[in-house]
Amino acid sequence: MKFENYGRGIAKGMSVTIKHLLRHPTVSQYPEQRLNTSRRIRGNELIWSKEKCTGCATCAKTCHEGAIEIETSPNLVNNKYEVEKYQVDTGYCIMCGLCVEACPFEALFMGTTYEAAKYRRDELVQEKEDMMLEAGVKQPSGYFYPDYAAALPRQTLLIERITEEQMKPAKMEPKTETKTEKTAEAEKK
Ligand code: SF4
Ligand code: SF4
Repeated sequence: MKFENYGRGIAKGMSVTIKHLLRHPTVSQYPEQRLNTSRRIRGNELIWSKEKCTGCATCAKTCHEGAIEIETSPNLVNNKYEVEKYQVDTGYCIMCGLCVEACPFEALFMGTTYEAAKYRRDELVQEKEDMMLEAGVKQPSGYFYPDYAAALPRQTLLIERITEEQMKPAKMEPKTETKTEKTAEAEKK
């Protein structure tokens, strides 16, 4: 070993270590620190609006996995259907979002949940009470609703410097009162 090369390897190694010491971290302290997901995430759940749903069952007919079950009863006083049962089996659901796209009344949203693992198979079935938008517990995704997605917090990426501001959880309700062209068209029919 030549004398002039002595310690060169150590210096090289240390320079890499020091370089990483000065860089911002590219990990997060999960689960305490949670990153904002994509605004258009298709999470492990569906969110359903009791107020907007007419019980038309278009979503159930669209689902190629047979994951949605609906039961309705006619309400002759108000001339509409009452949704008695709205159930989604997330064990069958592949989170494709087709039912959300098919709903003519904008009553269905993809959810943002990504920690929905269960110990028992039957716990994967979502009842309407678990997925009701109006309960204000669930966070709908902006999937298929670009106006709503634009209002959601930006996705946090580990390659960027993450600030506490960016880590604030999103808490927004989709516009329920505004009729879009799609809703108005469906109501006319
Ligand atoms: S398609 Fe929409 S309005 Fe029709 S039953 Fe499904 S969620 Fe309700
Ligand atoms: S997301 Fe796809 S698989 Fe899941 S219920 Fe809707 S249509 Fe069916």
